[in-house]
Amino acid sequence: MIISYSTIHSRTAISNSFLHLFTQAVIDGIPNNAKGPAIPAKGYLVQHIRGGVYWLIGGAYQTMFMVSNEGVIAIDAPPAIGKNYLKAISEVTDKVVTHVVYSHDHLDHIGSAGNFPKDAVYVAHRLVAKSLSVAKAAAQNTSSLPTVPSRTFRKKLLLIVGNQTLHLDYHGINHSPGNTFIYAPKQKVLMLCDVVYPGWFPFDELAYARDIAGFIKAHDTILTYDFQTFIGGHVSRLGTRRDVEVQKDYVSDLHSAAHQALNGTRLAHSSIDSWKDKTEFLKAAEQFCLKIMLRKNWTKKLGGSSILPSNCHKMIMATRIEPLVAVT
Ligand SMILES: [Zn+2]
Repeated sequence: MIISYSTIHSRTAISNSFLHLFTQAVIDGIPNNAKGPAIPAKGYLVQHIRGGVYWLIGGAYQTMFMVSNEGVIAIDAPPAIGKNYLKAISEVTDKVVTHVVYSHDHLDHIGSAGNFPKDAVYVAHRLVAKSLSVAKAAAQNTSSLPTVPSRTFRKKLLLIVGNQTLHLDYHGINHSPGNTFIYAPKQKVLMLCDVVYPGWFPFDELAYARDIAGFIKAHDTILTYDFQTFIGGHVSRLGTRRDVEVQKDYVSDLHSAAHQALNGTRLAHSSIDSWKDKTEFLKAAEQFCLKIMLRKNWTKKLGGSSILPSNCHKMIMATRIEPLVAVT
């Protein structure tokens, strides 16, 4: 079936029924599978995972830190957690932070690194360090930016601190250049930010992924690791292998829906305003995609369904213009 935007109005009744279903899915709230532990009134929750690896969550952001017999390895520094990061560490150990690892260069994940000791060793992928050093060079006030890491790597780095070991692996661009797989092999804990959202839809525009082909591929790469616990950087709870598999299925369905939406929607050049024609075309394609995803019951399986139209939009745009996404 081909839908041109000029026929959309004649299909209003059908469109409205789907919009009603979508609106109802949003009103129905989040499935139990998306819910995590209650966050105490102090604004954060810190829990031991295994073997000196701790999980820290506050303000819809989450991260992890490792306690060794020589000091603490802190991963990221989300401003949403801010100074509570150091409070959380002090609840479980009297060791100081000796190493700080950045998962990627986004300031919503590392913007509070200035709270950590200046003499700690700061570690990140070289693209992350380069991004921060370019920003520092351009900044009027460099104090607003996190410390530029001095210890960097291109493909992998084995970080050994006392009795703890952490693997930092780079498998190419996905969410952002330099986004790093952070793996604690002894504890079987894997962290990768802004790709998999356990129990939830991926954030707006597939979390603003810079490379959708890399974003799709990252799901398979995650599953090559021997992990029991996954930390995605956001939302309400820890993840499992099953959560990664579920999101892989979701992304596969979304990719297929985007192909079908593009094949089933025609761009009509009937207006003198080319951008209006394009906007109407994309609206029709997004609605096509949304209908397919509603039929597949994803709003019953994942939390945060109000974000689904933006996921459709991002995948449709990627399927239109990114060669590797278009041909797969
Ligand atoms: Zn990010």
